[in-house]
Amino acid sequence: MAIFVNGVIFEGVDTSDPNCWRLDAYMARGGYQALKSILSAKMPQEDVIAEVKGSGLRGRGGAGFPTGLKWSFMPRSFPGDKYVVCNTDEGEPGTFKDRDIIVFNPHALIEGMIIAGYAMGAKAGYNYIHGEIFEAYELFEAALDEARKAGFLGENILGSGFNFDLFAHHGYGAYICGEETALLESLEGKKGQPRFKPPFPASFGLYGKPTTINNTESFASVPFIIKDGAQKFLELGKPNNGGTKLFSISGHVNRPGNYEIPLGTPFSELLEMAGGMKGGKLKAVIPGGSSAPVLPADIMMQCTMDYDSISKAGSMLGSGAVIVMNEHVCMVKALERLAYFYHEESCGQCTPCREGTGWLYRVIHRILNGEGRPGDLELLDSVGNNMAGRTICALADAAVFPVRSFTKHFRNEFEYLIEHKKPLVNHKWC
Ligand code: SF4
Repeated sequence: MAIFVNGVIFEGVDTSDPNCWRLDAYMARGGYQALKSILSAKMPQEDVIAEVKGSGLRGRGGAGFPTGLKWSFMPRSFPGDKYVVCNTDEGEPGTFKDRDIIVFNPHALIEGMIIAGYAMGAKAGYNYIHGEIFEAYELFEAALDEARKAGFLGENILGSGFNFDLFAHHGYGAYICGEETALLESLEGKKGQPRFKPPFPASFGLYGKPTTINNTESFASVPFIIKDGAQKFLELGKPNNGGTKLFSISGHVNRPGNYEIPLGTPFSELLEMAGGMKGGKLKAVIPGGSSAPVLPADIMMQCTMDYDSISKAGSMLGSGAVIVMNEHVCMVKALERLAYFYHEESCGQCTPCREGTGWLYRVIHRILNGEGRPGDLELLDSVGNNMAGRTICALADAAVFPVRSFTKHFRNEFEYLIEHKKPLVNHKWC
């Protein structure tokens, strides 16, 4: 299913070649040159961070926080261990890009993490890989082995005196482990539940030590930034939205898959690359993973695929998971599926989330089944208002955003079902 357009991470990667992930293939594409140049020039750590800052790279996991700025939060003079951690726990419905980075180009991630370790003075890194992608995990282990044998990991890397090692860690398949502090808890062998913040991981992270957590795509973009320069990366996108980005496009398109394209590309072009609509006209799009508010077709067709445009339209670019829905989708049914997901995945620590996600699901479920009551839409609103912003982590907000946006943009379908006890749109699978 993966189809790539060349960009920063997948430039020159022939995904039809079963050996494209291997070290020799990566080095033939210019791999590890960035690391070599940093180590041979003994580049000051702050210069590496400045380069990443200058590239405008924003966190590709969902939040879009500037990566270089995040790196600068790591305490420089901390006397003990520090860690870098990669979040490959992608569990957001619609997202499947990080898995393909590991499967087709794992050394870009490894090199990016080594450079991050160098820049922040960390001696060890961990890659937390989603519990259900066994092939990717095994492949990443094999790539680590190659990197270790070639002297890119371990003691005295390439004779530079810099020591850094990297380990893969299998997650347990829980969505909440993608939340950075739950991920750290899980990595420490505990139940994966989010921590109260502050303190933030930069001061109290893995095993209580300073830790920087980035998404797979963010780390994998770093070798290009160091090798080709921050400016070149920045110019690939648009102001405040530097670089290229992987979009996982799924749903009613003819060629679902991952597309690496410059930030700022019109949505209409991405849709065309993905083979256009399947089974009917465009009705709605969730542009950034299931937590992002849904946008109706007319608004979405005006958007470009970047943080600012999508946010101005009232949604979020998130992880870049673009879920496309055609005119035959019943929006009540689609929302019920999402509400079920968040109810299942709540870790249960906070009452508003534990109870609220259940309320949302049950009310939407009864509307869908023709048992909706007058006042149910107001009830959804009221439950949502008692959840958003009142919990330890953002899962509660993530559960509320779809409810608010579906009932705002497609209110008529909910009202019709409550009044007539049958759907306005007969959902058609295709
Ligand atoms: Fe757990 Fe939900 Fe609270 Fe997050 S908001 S900590 S998922 S109960």
